[in-house]
Amino acid sequence: MIPFIDLKSQRIAYKEELQKAEQQVLDSGIYIGGPQVEALEEELALSCDKQDFFAVTCGSGTDALTISLSALNLQPGDQVIVPDFTFIAPAECVAQLGATPIFADINPNTLLIDPSEIAKRVTPKTKGIIAVDLFGECAPYQELRKVAQQYGLWILEDSAQAFGATQKNSQEKKQYACTFGDMAITSFYPTKPLGCYGDGGAIFTSNPHLAQKARELANHGSRSRYLHQSVGFNSRLDALQAAVLRIKLRHLEEEFSMRYKKAKIYDDFFMNWKGVKVTPQHIIDGNVSTYAQYTLLAENRERFIQILTKAEIPYCIHYPMPLHKQPCFAHLTHPTQENNSQQISQKVISLPFCAFTDVQSIIEKINSIA
Ligand SMILES: *Cc1c(COP(=O)(O)O)cnc(C)c1O
Repeated sequence: MIPFIDLKSQRIAYKEELQKAEQQVLDSGIYIGGPQVEALEEELALSCDKQDFFAVTCGSGTDALTISLSALNLQPGDQVIVPDFTFIAPAECVAQLGATPIFADINPNTLLIDPSEIAKRVTPKTKGIIAVDLFGECAPYQELRKVAQQYGLWILEDSAQAFGATQKNSQEKKQYACTFGDMAITSFYPTKPLGCYGDGGAIFTSNPHLAQKARELANHGSRSRYLHQSVGFNSRLDALQAAVLRIKLRHLEEEFSMRYKKAKIYDDFFMNWKGVKVTPQHIIDGNVSTYAQYTLLAENRERFIQILTKAEIPYCIHYPMPLHKQPCFAHLTHPTQENNSQQISQKVISLPFCAFTDVQSIIEKINSIA
């Protein structure tokens, strides 16, 4: 069976480097924080290509969101605008802090939050926007920044799927994901484009006070041992994970160019395919996606699934329902009409994809069925 994300082949490709780095950590006697984690934080910040920029690692992407929201001083009763169509984490973290997620609809082609849907949801309680770089494509930050400025909101960039993605900014310059928000986060969950061998995450900001606050919160609200400035969390990155990430970071650019070529092969095939009408997530001019997922919109998803099943090709539905339909948010007020998020959740389907996926053989299998 073709793996949905081929982490085994990736491990084989870098095995010697990984094993050496892993052994060094195991022999070092330092397992949480320490020099590997510090070096990784520097390398992550450098990779974002922004002056005076900080990266703070922590226990997961979800923790990174919660810690960022706490650093931004989110309070019970506050409201935060989040996209209606995404993974649960951004809305969950807002709710965990006693605030309320307010769901904004998406653009049906890019699948990203629609900036024109934000203004009508702003109230005196609204504090910020969580923008998600869904499936690896950066959200429309120029427009989001305008809305945020107009209403005095912060932007938290959820780049869990998009570390290394780029977008052209207002000066037509390539700018990296994780640098668009007042704060940003990424996830090192194993199947993300930059993943480790367990949970891990990072917080990014160019604001030294927010960076300091995030670092403090991630370590029991403490700057120096047994002195606690705030009520914090235990959310730190293991040295072993940092060592693994440093190796994978070295290969990230070459992996991205492989991903890019493979996504183009899928795109070209599906554009002319006579089987079922499918359209890939639209990548806006000026955006370069990480293709954390290769996601299509299928007019007849049932039929497409039949073909994939016959061809023994695995698939995933990211995501089967909009967040406003989730039972845990049933008590909140919701759009009364069908929105794009609802319709899109009925059409989306993701195919096997990573730098090591044999896209050509998947296409051949599909062709042999339909
Ligand atoms: C994976 C993901 C997260 C959470 O990351 P974890 O490291 O699994 O906690 C948050 N937001 C989005 C959009 C994600 O895809």
